[in-house]
Amino acid sequence: RHGAHHFLVTEQDIAKRYRRRPQDSHKGSFGRVGVLAGSPGMYGAARLAVEGAYRAGAGLVYYFAPEDLSDTWVSGFPVEAVVKRYAGRAGVWNVDAIASLLALFAQVDVGVIGPGMGRSMQDSPEALLALAQLPIPLVLDADFLQVVAASEDGGVTFFEHRKHLTIITPHPKEFAQLIKRPTSVVQENRLLYAKEYAVKTQTIVVLKGAGTVIATPEPAVWINSTGNSGLATGGTGDVLAGLLGGLLASGYGAESAALVGVYVHGKAAELACTTQYSQESLVASDLFAWFGTAFRQIS
Ligand code: AMP
Ligand code: MG
Repeated sequence: RHGAHHFLVTEQDIAKRYRRRPQDSHKGSFGRVGVLAGSPGMYGAARLAVEGAYRAGAGLVYYFAPEDLSDTWVSGFPVEAVVKRYAGRAGVWNVDAIASLLALFAQVDVGVIGPGMGRSMQDSPEALLALAQLPIPLVLDADFLQVVAASEDGGVTFFEHRKHLTIITPHPKEFAQLIKRPTSVVQENRLLYAKEYAVKTQTIVVLKGAGTVIATPEPAVWINSTGNSGLATGGTGDVLAGLLGGLLASGYGAESAALVGVYVHGKAAELACTTQYSQESLVASDLFAWFGTAFRQIS
């Protein structure tokens, strides 16, 4: 049923899409990413997404933090991160929080929303609607996708309100919640369901897991060829969400950002595991050291 148009992503496909950075560029050339992520106990996820965005080449990465986030946590962020506070406490999405968040998102070119952010937004349809209507490209991941899935009709209304480019990066369980089917069923029909949902929601669906599927509303479906089970460890998905945001901000189109980001993420894991790490020992933050080699191989 889904066999017609699927491709295994090759290094050549990625090399063709690689964007060389012009000699006369400056940080304004590569855009600003705003990251809304983290919650008490889970700020590491936000940190990984922030660094992921920088490592993909974003000019500036802003981290949107609640007013009550302690300086101890903030000091754990990459020193390059620009920390901007929104009103109120973590997980409280009232009118003030929403208004101040919208003012912060107005300062960036791309948003990355979801890693480790918890599901408190489930109780604030106003916040969800406000984020749906953001007039910038968004990468949506993790807890935020679960909040969208919990809204009635599995997020279809949310995506109807989106008028700008959207990449979603669910792992199989998150995707199962979005399409309201068992994870085992999703896994047996990854290409089909990713494509159907991409068409239905007009988003780019990055369905993660071994052989990550990249589906767009267009006929083609891609299957990534890089990565290994070293990536089956906490935080690697947060790094990916950041990477995709950084690629979008630095000028990649949506499909290219998804393909290049997923490929490079998997390649970094391969490089790490054939040199100083192994598939057992790899942790998410180890990947950062290998994106350089991965990008140079496709440039
Ligand atoms: P998450 O579940 O959100 O932390 O994301 C995990 C990341 O690791 C995704 O990019 C997955 O595609 C990747 N990943 C996990 N397990 C494997 C595997 N066995 N082979 C390749 N990639 C994997
Ligand atoms: Mg995840």
